[in-house]
Amino acid sequence: MSNAEQEVIVGIDLGTTNSLVGVVDSGFPIILADQAGHRMLPSVVQFPADDSGAEVIVGLAARNSQVVHPERTVSSIKRFIGRSANDVSTEEMQNEQLSRTGSDGLLVAGKTPEKVSAEILSELKKTAEYALEQPVSRAVITVPAYFNNTQREATKKAAELAGWKVERIINEPTAAALAYGLDREGEEQLVAVYDLGGGTFDLSILQLKEGLFEVIATAGDTELGGDDIDQAVAEFFLSKMELQKEDLESSQWAELLRIGREAKEYLSENEAYDVRLPFFREGKSWEFSLTAEQLELLADPILLRTKSICQRAFAEAEAKGKPQIDQLLMVGGSTRMPLIARRLKEWFGKEPQMSGNPDEAVALGAAIQAGILCGRVRNVVLVDVTPLSLGIETFGGLMNVIIPRNSTIPAKAGEMFTNAVANQESLAIRVLQGEREMARDNWQLGEIEVPFTPGPKGSARVGVQFTIDQDGILEVLSRDTSTGEDHILEIRNAAVDVDDEAVEKMVEESIDFAFEDMSERIWTEAEMKSRELLPAVEAALTVVGEEITDSEKLEIEAAASDVASLLELPENRRDVNALKAANQKLDDATQTLAAILVEKALDEAL
Ligand code: ADP
Ligand code: MG
Repeated sequence: MSNAEQEVIVGIDLGTTNSLVGVVDSGFPIILADQAGHRMLPSVVQFPADDSGAEVIVGLAARNSQVVHPERTVSSIKRFIGRSANDVSTEEMQNEQLSRTGSDGLLVAGKTPEKVSAEILSELKKTAEYALEQPVSRAVITVPAYFNNTQREATKKAAELAGWKVERIINEPTAAALAYGLDREGEEQLVAVYDLGGGTFDLSILQLKEGLFEVIATAGDTELGGDDIDQAVAEFFLSKMELQKEDLESSQWAELLRIGREAKEYLSENEAYDVRLPFFREGKSWEFSLTAEQLELLADPILLRTKSICQRAFAEAEAKGKPQIDQLLMVGGSTRMPLIARRLKEWFGKEPQMSGNPDEAVALGAAIQAGILCGRVRNVVLVDVTPLSLGIETFGGLMNVIIPRNSTIPAKAGEMFTNAVANQESLAIRVLQGEREMARDNWQLGEIEVPFTPGPKGSARVGVQFTIDQDGILEVLSRDTSTGEDHILEIRNAAVDVDDEAVEKMVEESIDFAFEDMSERIWTEAEMKSRELLPAVEAALTVVGEEITDSEKLEIEAAASDVASLLELPENRRDVNALKAANQKLDDATQTLAAILVEKALDEAL
């Protein structure tokens, strides 16, 4: 097994009703399916009868046979994890499975909540190992935002009992926001997460700032969820059947609840559900239908209970100076009901966001967090590039590019420059941005004057370095290498924050004028060469002119006057090739002269 395989970390949504495990695979967060192809594991655990020696059953099979063995089948264990018998209400204590230990601990069906949760978590471990075909033991686990420290610790302990190493416990709404990609959005914002699951409702308000989430407010109801709608639907069935709940055996009631849930889920995408109950009670059969409209009438009063809870959380956020909700996310299986989005829009005037599978959002977010931790999600600020080239103006008014366009930032580059003229006292560095060959056609971002010790041409050495940091700040550092003196110019944002239209225009112009720009650059370079050669040749002739033949002297003078006259031509008659050739000819003609100069200099030195 390779290291990379050992490193895998999965994300787990340990839900009250359903639990899921996900992972980032080839760049995408996905939910893992068990051997039967199920991606969602009902959080239901069925323990074997005492001394039967049979195995613990977890998931769908446990849920389906809950009515048969209610005393040893546990659901919604999440309600009890990390709580002591003292903080469980007398009403909750009515639950026949609950008992208290001597030290005020809670037992459910004779087991600690950690032990029951561990069964679910080890089932998820099997799923992960089956799907990933390798041992998996590291996980990120989500908990409700309102979970206190004891509840978080107990969740962690349950995971450890199941053989997991818990890398991080994160809040469910935070995971949901990650799944919606909100961490990648730049600006600070306030996000409300509306999570309606099977038996619980949570509204959390998060503040997102620089990729970090902070929980600002939470509100909820631990006894409000899709189960209540199932119950309302089952009661509606009873009225259709003209029966009372007391007329039914508990397994019959459980059957109506199951069909109620099925109908409710079906009606999220369909208009009507046909209920068929052959020989349901005392040999009697029933057939009737439930329409989407009827379901909405049944669900509405239940949903209305979430409204005041939302308002409570909004008020809390407002009291903390955060009145403006920027985004409203819908999470949890129950939000698949189309009615919820409609009501939220009505109540809060805000279009809620829902992903394709709202019951997977938390697990996908946990998987993303896990992916970040194990390096499967590269934690980089989105690659930013320089929209235009950055450089400085050099001799002859040319643009000298230091950091080319489209370089990824941060970026650093530099060059060394020298003085073009003897006894120059300073060098002006004009910082430019743009794609044109001539400095004057680009934009000037700033300028620094670098003083240096005057000396002959080419004696000064000035290093110029451009650094653009992650925030787009350009720093131009210039250093006189003989004195070591630094000059720094800082240009904020201008280097990166350029209006898209302006960039487009600049790039277009650089293409439109490519030919003209290029010929101007070539001409400028040839002209600079000529302007360097002519005075040098003249100076050499006065010093060592006597030492060459007359014909050599004539040849040099003719070549020099050719160059000079080509330079004087008006712009529209410029001939860059002729100038380059004349430069070359002058250079060749002065070979002997140059050799004599060097010899003379050597003699003098000796
Ligand atoms: P939890 O977070 O409590 O574990 P989930 O987010 O998995 O729960 O939500 C489970 C609830 O979602 C159940 O009440 C289930 O009936 C409901 N649900 C699932 N699918 C649909 C659907 N298509 N339409 C309406 N409700 C649905
Ligand atoms: Mg949930």
